[in-house]
Amino acid sequence: VERRRGGRGGSSSSSSSSSSSGWDYEEVVAESLRWDDTTMRYDDAEAWNCAVRTLLSRAASGRAEIMGRVRAVCVSGTSASCLLVDRRTLDVTRGARMYNYDVMSSSAGEDDPSPSAAWRAMDLIDRHVPPGQTARAATGSLAKLLLWNEQRPLDSYEDGTCREVLCHQSDYVSASLMREGLPIREGDDPTVAITSDWHNCLKLGYDVRVRAFPPWLRDVLGVGGAGLSRPASALPTRVVSPGSPIGTISPAVASACGMPTGTIVVGGTTDSNAAFFAAAGADPEYGTAVTSLGSTLAIKMLSRTFVEDANRGVYSHRFPRFGGRSLGGVGGHEEEDEVEAWLIGGASNVGCAILRLEGFTDEELARLSAEIDPASDSPLLYYPLTKRGERFPVADGAKEPVLSPKPACRKEYLHAILQGISDVERDGFRVLGELGASPNVPRVVLSCGGGARNDVWTSIRERRLMEIRDDDEKEKEGGRQRGRSVEVRRATNTEASYGAALLAAASFAHEGYP
Ligand code: ADP
Repeated sequence: VERRRGGRGGSSSSSSSSSSSGWDYEEVVAESLRWDDTTMRYDDAEAWNCAVRTLLSRAASGRAEIMGRVRAVCVSGTSASCLLVDRRTLDVTRGARMYNYDVMSSSAGEDDPSPSAAWRAMDLIDRHVPPGQTARAATGSLAKLLLWNEQRPLDSYEDGTCREVLCHQSDYVSASLMREGLPIREGDDPTVAITSDWHNCLKLGYDVRVRAFPPWLRDVLGVGGAGLSRPASALPTRVVSPGSPIGTISPAVASACGMPTGTIVVGGTTDSNAAFFAAAGADPEYGTAVTSLGSTLAIKMLSRTFVEDANRGVYSHRFPRFGGRSLGGVGGHEEEDEVEAWLIGGASNVGCAILRLEGFTDEELARLSAEIDPASDSPLLYYPLTKRGERFPVADGAKEPVLSPKPACRKEYLHAILQGISDVERDGFRVLGELGASPNVPRVVLSCGGGARNDVWTSIRERRLMEIRDDDEKEKEGGRQRGRSVEVRRATNTEASYGAALLAAASFAHEGYP
């Protein structure tokens, strides 16, 4: 992605973004997305590096001058996908455990000869991690780290510094871009920094409000817990703002991919946050929201305030503010924020999966939807789960799907399902508002995923979202609620890689940029 000034380019994939940094728009100049090597394992860290190299060389195929213009690279990875590496050589010492790896169900897996290790790991979490922390999850990176240590204690140097250190997927790929090919000599400083970012570290327990690992993390990893004598050394050495410069690519990578030797690597992010950046831009207004209408429904919104409800899976990511406003500095020294921004959200079990389950083909969806009048309400009040159990906007493991009475007419049935999902989306935003989101209602909702294609549904959703009372408007109108509108539209860009590239580009606005 390249940032441009002046008139907009004609490319359909270009995206407007707010121009606090003086740039007018970003444009995709080269793209390489498809990965078709089926022999590679998705949890093989070497395969990630190989894939990155291959995709980079494909992006530039026959257009060497494009790679020569690259100035910064940003890597996004799936959240809570992590591995252990040797801090000196970056060699993988424990293979990756991916985002969906569940420590508790791993106990039956062949990679763990002693199921009790998982129990011991989760017991440590139970005893030391305060209630409500996302790090308590059995799929979180802390649980994965503790399980590794229970299976075989982390290897340490004589002074107790861990030789094995936790790296997230994107930390690892970034580190490889920076270090690969550099000779590691005997006598080198064994405490080489592993850099991570606010987004990837959230599920590890990182306190995004104070921007530090919390004291309880020392308890769970330390002598009274997992038994590490220098617990902090098992964690990434520095945690920076996504998008802030962390180093430059190694000479080997530069020459292999045709990128300039000074190319900057910036702090990474998670794939779902990168998808938010892709849809909303790197510097959106407060109240900008992204709804993902894929198999399940997920909502995210940029808020002035931090909100949290672990019970319902609601948490806040610290949002990097650009234009020199709140990017963390190089070397892990964070600047004081002038403006705080939080990317808040939640995910429901409701979603488009029900449409497939009920036999609606994409063709039928398009045809029947066109016949629905979005201004009319369906009398049927559904809660279109595919199976029992909801997590957000209500946490209720016993919640049953409601898909009856079922009308004979397919169009009416579809109308009721689309309306039911729209109600869940509205309730989701309403809950975020009740938890303290500011603004308490979304101003713009950008949609992505299969359901975003459906314009009739978009109108239904827009009407539903207008039902939420807007505190800001109420205040402005002296207590009277004025009619207001929520703009709902399809996101132009949805690829996580595009969002990551935007972060790399946006970081140029940072004053201290080299
Ligand atoms: P996933 O989460 O699996 O990646 P996608 O974002 O690819 O999902 O979206 C696929 C879903 O979109 C399917 O469940 C499909 O029923 C739904 N879908 C496709 N076309 C439409 C449409 N016109 N209206 C509503 N839903 C649609």
